[in-house]
Amino acid sequence: SGKDRVKVAVRVRPFSKREEDAGSRCVVSMGPNTTTIMDPRSQQVRTFTFDYSYWSHSGFLRNKEGLFVPEEPGGRYADQSSVFQDLGQAILENALQGYNATLLAYGQTGSGKSYSMVGYGPNKGLVPTLCERLFQAVKVNQDTCQFQVFFSMLEIYNEQVNIHIFKSETLGPRSGGGLKVREDQQRGFYVEGLRRVACKSGAQVERMMEQGTRTRTTAATHLNASSSRSHMLITLQLKQVLLLITKESTINLVDLAGSERQRTSGSEADRLKEGTAINLSLTTLGNVISSLADAALGKRVVHIPYRDSVITKLLQPALGGNSRTIMVATLSPADMCYEESLSTLRYAERAKRIQNRAVVNESPTE
Ligand code: ADP
Ligand code: MG
Repeated sequence: SGKDRVKVAVRVRPFSKREEDAGSRCVVSMGPNTTTIMDPRSQQVRTFTFDYSYWSHSGFLRNKEGLFVPEEPGGRYADQSSVFQDLGQAILENALQGYNATLLAYGQTGSGKSYSMVGYGPNKGLVPTLCERLFQAVKVNQDTCQFQVFFSMLEIYNEQVNIHIFKSETLGPRSGGGLKVREDQQRGFYVEGLRRVACKSGAQVERMMEQGTRTRTTAATHLNASSSRSHMLITLQLKQVLLLITKESTINLVDLAGSERQRTSGSEADRLKEGTAINLSLTTLGNVISSLADAALGKRVVHIPYRDSVITKLLQPALGGNSRTIMVATLSPADMCYEESLSTLRYAERAKRIQNRAVVNESPTE
């Protein structure tokens, strides 16, 4: 069935100040079902089809609260809440039904991954809104169901797993690095020693997310390098104890490293290390997606290289396995980003072929 196929969304953002100052032209356009990109030199046009496409490039204004909203009611600008209505809501409903669910943001640095996933200021992204709604659902159903929610967050930088432990959560101010990824018959790949925090409210999760984001690696020399070179993985584990059955689901929320060709900086040694390792997780992710896409087309695929990188180990269930998965591919509208945007669209096109097999994770209540 096509039911568990990976769903893919694309979103194009407004011009940045820099793009505007450079007199950029918009090379992306969207129809009801299609996304089109034009080569600014040859004028050649390519058209793609995705499950969802979000035009967030024009037709907006900022209201008094600083919210980006459509210029007129029902206008074409896709704001944060309309993106949540499709993607966030689907993730939440799947998790409440007992399915594992994954949401991945992919795109070049500055294209809107963090804006879509986390958001800025009042323009809350998918993750905080998802948490808020999750705890609303917990409240509404608390008479018939006992809920437990656990939060953890980690960063993959240079093929190293770093965790962020939160001062305010009394788990101690330690922040460790270099945790080991292990494999277990039952659990699959997991991060050994990863702490998880029991959560009672969306606000609590949001606080922890903020702290975790703030401590994202700053070793790199360029200002934006920390978030552009590391993958951020937030995991919510939801346990629902009903009278007779217990459901357990894992929600993975992933803000991937920038998909652009990594420009090197820093010392030669770091450069060499990063040049191989940072590309490794994204390159391997691309290889896994391509292999799965080939398999879905009926090609003979001998080997899916999950084991070749940390991100593909941890996301194995999300890619071809027991999870309902959504990818958001984010685009810059500008002609100067044409090559990167085209490569993002091609990547997204492959991802949408992936067929998963999700099951409700339930067992008799003990
Ligand atoms: P990334 O995480 O991919 O590097 P960001 O999410 O930080 O990129 O976005 C880069 C800039 O573009 C930010 O200033 C952000 O506020 C702005 N931006 C991104 N997407 C949108 C959008 N849909 N609407 C308005 N502004 C956006
Ligand atoms: Mg970011």
